[in-house]
Amino acid sequence: MLLNSQSTRSLLRAVDFEYAPQRFTVYTARDLDRIGQLERLPAELRYEMKVVSSVLPFRVNEYVLRELIDWERAPEDPMFQLTFPQRGMLSDAHFKRMAIAIDSGLEKKELQVVANEIRAELNPHPAGQLENNLPRDESGEPINGLQHKYKETVLFFPSQGQTCHSYCTFCFRWAQFIGDKSLRIATTEAEKLYSYLRHHPEVTDLLVTGGDPMVMKSKQLKAYLEPLLHPEFSHIQTIRIGTKALTFWPHRFIFDDDADELIELLHHLVLAGKHVAIMAHYNHWRELDTDVARAAIRRVRATGAEIRSQGPLLAHINDNSGDWAKLWNEQVKLGVNPYYMFVERDTGARRYFEVPLYRAWQIYRDAMKQVSGLGRTARGPSMSAGPGKVEIQGVTEINGEKVFVLRFIQARDHDLVQRPFFAQYDENVTWYDQLRPVQGQALPFLEAAR
Ligand SMILES: *Cc1c(COP(=O)(O)O)cnc(C)c1O
Ligand code: SF4
Repeated sequence: MLLNSQSTRSLLRAVDFEYAPQRFTVYTARDLDRIGQLERLPAELRYEMKVVSSVLPFRVNEYVLRELIDWERAPEDPMFQLTFPQRGMLSDAHFKRMAIAIDSGLEKKELQVVANEIRAELNPHPAGQLENNLPRDESGEPINGLQHKYKETVLFFPSQGQTCHSYCTFCFRWAQFIGDKSLRIATTEAEKLYSYLRHHPEVTDLLVTGGDPMVMKSKQLKAYLEPLLHPEFSHIQTIRIGTKALTFWPHRFIFDDDADELIELLHHLVLAGKHVAIMAHYNHWRELDTDVARAAIRRVRATGAEIRSQGPLLAHINDNSGDWAKLWNEQVKLGVNPYYMFVERDTGARRYFEVPLYRAWQIYRDAMKQVSGLGRTARGPSMSAGPGKVEIQGVTEINGEKVFVLRFIQARDHDLVQRPFFAQYDENVTWYDQLRPVQGQALPFLEAAR
């Protein structure tokens, strides 16, 4: 089916401001010295960044440097913290090990060995995602590049989409970016995806994820998605695309050479009857605070696709209710639906970003109080753990004992979905595996793990 040029033209008109298109220019760890803005920071900080970025992924682009980061406020600036490595992301012992290796002038190969040893100690694959969620084909062979954990949703990791326009310092998929192919989840074998979906009529949602699928050419994305319009995939109601391009490179939707092709693809999928949901990753209202970011949202919405937002709560970036309320309010204003507030996962630089569960819940609740009902659609704070997504619903007392009230929003074991349960209140707990049972009531995830 071809789109008529009338509707395409009205979509193009969603861009209604003057803006000089930029070329996509990216900097990685070896380019740290070429980032002019860093010169204003103390030499020690620059050295620390060098050490940390030899272990954890680093990548930032010119738009983030020029328009998102407030250099007057660096290093505390949340957009700086979102993208630039900080010393506290590694333990003292790991930091020193890497620093000594660098200072002693080891060869690149030997440095890699040290870096890999440290990485292996940072829980590169939380929630057992390499083994536990790997679907199998009819002959029992595991299918690489897919994850199927919750009955209704299959995750697809196209191999061309396993990088991002910039990297978030707290990324839970960081292990995919460090060049070790054995750790990577990806596939180019779309045929296996289609075959799997054909055999699984219970699946209603396909979530294309990465990395960031929006780094792919529109042509590639189209090649993956258009076949889903065939009647044999009528059970796939919703195509979700997980992305942070609306933050890191909004130009993708407006000025890139194939931006129009992408917009037309989204529109085409919508017209053909699919629910298209852009699962946009946002952490801070500042990400919405540029003309190009807002125009990209308008343009995506004009296709008929929905934008839902999700992102973790993070120390040093957004651990206060005011910033969340402002983020959700701005999103509602722009027609973006708040969907999830996550708890930072137990991997990578977690030590630097983690927030105790009781604090996360307070921040969530205080932010909720400041937004209208349309902003209260965000669920959370939610932990994406091995057995499922566990939400902290609140704090209360039973028989005089202070407890957390929790529930599974999603669970591998379907019977756990939406069942409330309790755990001992403890202000030090930052992840579900530290939760302790209350008055002899077993924790359901311990049962599920058995
Ligand atoms: C979060 C998640 C989903 C989607 O869950 P929804 O609540 O439907 O958004 C699917 N699969 C995995 C592995 C997830 O972590
Ligand atoms: S955009 Fe997503 S996948 Fe990419 S670095 Fe950030 S959190 Fe990780």
